[in-house]
Amino acid sequence: MVLLLKNTNKMNDHNLVPLVPLREGVVFPHTEVVLTFGRPKSLASVKAAFEADRLICFVAQKNPRLSDPKLTDLYKIGTLCTIQRILKTDNEVNALVKGMTRVKIESIKPNLSFYLAQVSEVKETSELSEEVEALTKHLSLQLKKAVNLGKPVDFLTFMRLMSEVSAAELTDQIASLLDVRTDQKQKILEIPEVKKRLSKVIDLFSREMRILEIERLINAKTQKKFDKSMRETILRERMKTIQKELGEEEEDRDIIDLRKKIKIVMMPRTIEEKALKELDRLAKMHSYNPEGAYIRTYLDWLIDMPWSKKSPNNVSLRNAKKVLEADHYGLKEVKERVLEYLAVMKLKKEKTKKENHTMPTIICFVGPPGVGKTSIAKSIARSLGRKFVKVSLGGIRDEAEIRGHRRTYVGAMPGRILQGIKDAGTKNPVFVLDEIDKVGADFRGDPSSALLEALDPEQNKDFSDHYLEVPFDLSEVMFITTANILDTIPPALKDRLEVIRFSGYTQEEKLQIAKKFLLKKVLGNNALDKKRLEISEITLSKIIENYTREAGVRNLEREISKIARKAAREIVEKGKKAIKVGVKKLEGYLGPETYTKSLAEKQDEVGVTTGLAWTQAGGDILFIEVVLMPGKGNLILTGKLGDVMKESCRAALSYLRSHWQQLGIKKDETKNLDIHIHVPEGAVPKDGPSAGVAIASSLASALMNKKVRKEIGMTGEITLRGKVLEIGGVKEKMIAAHRAGLKKVILPKGNKKDLIDLPQKVKKEIDFVLVDNLNQVLKEVLVG
Ligand code: ADP
Repeated sequence: MVLLLKNTNKMNDHNLVPLVPLREGVVFPHTEVVLTFGRPKSLASVKAAFEADRLICFVAQKNPRLSDPKLTDLYKIGTLCTIQRILKTDNEVNALVKGMTRVKIESIKPNLSFYLAQVSEVKETSELSEEVEALTKHLSLQLKKAVNLGKPVDFLTFMRLMSEVSAAELTDQIASLLDVRTDQKQKILEIPEVKKRLSKVIDLFSREMRILEIERLINAKTQKKFDKSMRETILRERMKTIQKELGEEEEDRDIIDLRKKIKIVMMPRTIEEKALKELDRLAKMHSYNPEGAYIRTYLDWLIDMPWSKKSPNNVSLRNAKKVLEADHYGLKEVKERVLEYLAVMKLKKEKTKKENHTMPTIICFVGPPGVGKTSIAKSIARSLGRKFVKVSLGGIRDEAEIRGHRRTYVGAMPGRILQGIKDAGTKNPVFVLDEIDKVGADFRGDPSSALLEALDPEQNKDFSDHYLEVPFDLSEVMFITTANILDTIPPALKDRLEVIRFSGYTQEEKLQIAKKFLLKKVLGNNALDKKRLEISEITLSKIIENYTREAGVRNLEREISKIARKAAREIVEKGKKAIKVGVKKLEGYLGPETYTKSLAEKQDEVGVTTGLAWTQAGGDILFIEVVLMPGKGNLILTGKLGDVMKESCRAALSYLRSHWQQLGIKKDETKNLDIHIHVPEGAVPKDGPSAGVAIASSLASALMNKKVRKEIGMTGEITLRGKVLEIGGVKEKMIAAHRAGLKKVILPKGNKKDLIDLPQKVKKEIDFVLVDNLNQVLKEVLVG
């Protein structure tokens, strides 16, 4: 090469050639490349070379951003090339150049309009060893593989490299094809030893191959997926076209079914239109679209709602009376009220026959648990021949529970009202809303307002549920609500309710219910009958007295069930024919007695009176204990008393202290005493003013050191003047007093009217003392 240089260049003695710095890339000997020049100085170099012997040196810049690099900004080793051809455009020059040999740039002549460099040839060292041969073969095989994997290589170059070429040429050619950075290529250029260069190129090439392989793998996978969905789409389209051609453009089976169902259920017209619109949306949807499932569920709901299905609407009072009597013992007043209600319903229906408005106000059964509220409602449904559903509202705080979530929510559902209607399957069921007193309101909205809308006969013709989005007619539903107490029902709701009270059963009534109803029911549930299991009347009484303490009969039913289950097991396991459960055997079945008649065993004591309380679970008795101890006149109150009850304690004490002379208390005695008032069952919260009389009596007994007669129960609010005021819940309290075996009850004169509705047995067995001031009370209860 140097020879060539010497022969053709007039500056050949000094080895001077024009030079062009390259921002990117390296030109290797043996390779042909097209380069583009734009910088004036580079253009000048090319021109100078082209006009002379076409020899030119290319060298890479260390920093591609420099536009006028100095000698130090260039790599030391470059490539001497010849310019084969030049193509000029407006402000660019393209040149096809061929690499000749590696040169070292010694210096650059200063102050010229182009780069003129003095260069010296870098001698290549090659050996002819077996190792070099093997490496060469390996490299050319790799190239073949790379081309198969899709590496873009010019066809002519590839063919040339596949025929016999020298190791030096092969490395340089492949180095120029490598997909690596300029500095890495430069490093290869700077290796004059062929063997070393081979190893380096093989190294870098193998890395590139691995990347190529991974890429191909990924491509293949994506392609596969794409191919599958493409194939399906094409087939589907083709099928549609074929069907169209044959004139049998058919819908999905599912869609056809849904369309049929929508027609069958006879929705109101506007709603049917909406349903069909949704169905069209579904039909157009790709089967993979997840929204499809939501629409389908929605349509199922629309289809399942009983838009026009109802039970025949005949109210027969005679039949209703028969059913109520057959299903329930006692509850005379409740049954009367229910029959009156049904009568009004019948009249209203006749009056507005054309419209379907039949529902007067809503019934609300109020009373303790287990007294038969739900079961009466069931009987009403049976007597009217309507379906029965019950939805519990206890603990609901979210309006959406009543009215549903909007469809935009994931997992949205209609509210409980419409769920109940769907379960009933008719649009006029008897619908029990249980525990309406336990509905709360918070930040999630007020469920009671939604309830109001459902219950209000003016509005519920078009009850709107957020999920269903279309109005549903609730006007033919017979709503019955139940509650334990009235106080916590929101006033707006309470206004709409026609309250019917249930007030606990006496022992006698419970016995009758057990004998006539519960026993039969329990035996039936356990696949037994009267002959196989006999529980005597005395035994039932004993269960009522010693194993349950409740206003209703729920626990009683549970205890009888317990016996029945154990008996069933004995019959199966021990092969017994019949079992009789008497009083003696009771402990074996139910364990030790839970409640003993504690009152009867009690002695008359100082500072302890028997009060009467009224709770959600019915009436109950409670004891009020007072002790005095040396101290500084403090009043200590314990037993989880509410504010009102605490105030009653203070009022009672103030009254007694202000009447110290009458009561025979020493004037300053209370100053040096601490007074402790406690109401046992300390974990149960207690409140209300009606224990005033009992508290005052306990205090008086303690202060006067006189015993209280244990068998007298008392209830009544007191004033600071010692007056006794009327209280609520008399019936429940008197039943509880009777249950507890009290013989005498003191109660306010104002409550005389309430005594009329008491069960006969209670009236007969308890002696009522009506009072209007505290002195009368003390006279009755204190011994001596
Ligand atoms: P509530 O709804 O008031 O809590 P339920 O209606 O669930 O009470 O009644 C509990 C059980 O007691 C039911 O099995 C019911 O049949 C029975 N029961 C309650 N009162 C009577 C009654 N007067 N006659 C017959 N069975 C009754």
